[in-house]
Amino acid sequence: MSAYIHHSDCLLHDMGASHPEKPARIVAIEEQIRAAKLMDLLHRYDAPLATKEQLARVHDSEYIDKILNFQDSYTYLDSDTLLTAQTPQAALRAAGALIHATDLILTNQHKTAFCNVRPPGHHALSDRAMGFCFFNNVAVGAAHAIAAYGLKRVAILDFDVHHGNGTEEIFQSDSRIMLCSTFQHPFYPGSGANTVSEHIINVPLAAGAGGAEFREAVIEHWLPALHEFEPQLIFISAGFDAHQADNISQLNFLEKDYVWITEEILVIANKYAEGRIISTLEGGYELQSLANSVVAHIKVLLNDLVIGSVFC
Ligand SMILES: [Zn+2]
Repeated sequence: MSAYIHHSDCLLHDMGASHPEKPARIVAIEEQIRAAKLMDLLHRYDAPLATKEQLARVHDSEYIDKILNFQDSYTYLDSDTLLTAQTPQAALRAAGALIHATDLILTNQHKTAFCNVRPPGHHALSDRAMGFCFFNNVAVGAAHAIAAYGLKRVAILDFDVHHGNGTEEIFQSDSRIMLCSTFQHPFYPGSGANTVSEHIINVPLAAGAGGAEFREAVIEHWLPALHEFEPQLIFISAGFDAHQADNISQLNFLEKDYVWITEEILVIANKYAEGRIISTLEGGYELQSLANSVVAHIKVLLNDLVIGSVFC
């Protein structure tokens, strides 16, 4: 059984009906999980609130205070990232989901977890919100795995269509974290293509690229680096906005590409990380393709458990 981590507070953060990063995203995912009859195969958990101490492993203390104690009810922190009165509660649940997932996986209660939470996190810098993101959820989880469980090698794999600049900034000097990423370039936020680092593996993809180019990038760049790194735990920044149906980008991934990458990640996880994978939602704004892609992704995570139980 895989862990499914969610909280109704994640619906409270609402940047307006015309904003693509809306509560309906995680509702559509949950409805599709039910329609696919997967909920019985998932152990559902409510996300706790992340603590300030947990956030402070990756964010500046002053920045955390600024988000949590904001007095104005509506404030744009950048051109598309609106802080409302309910945002801190949702953002603390989203980050808390990664803490809980890490605890569940590293105490051997589950092998895999999916966090259906928002706001997303991978653009959030150590001291600044941007790109719909407030706290860097996946970074909070990875830092927790290192600080609370003493892991030495943790991988974060990011196939969102946008470069995870926040995650890169937070871990750019920390070789205990390997960050592998594919993203459309040139594109928002503009970073990533020129990064030179042994533990940050960035592969920019040109507008128009599809599953073939994505698979080639992963096979040529991600997989050799991951085999060398031998991660003890794998996080996935699972954005589905590179899907062909998602008009926010010009990449053309399909559900079958998300199935493929999840299978490839499972192979690495089974070889080095005792099968341990924590996946968390990042982008994905066309609701039907988002929901279908997440279900396809979760089915692969669940399949491994069935296969694994045959051999146990
Ligand atoms: Zn994105």
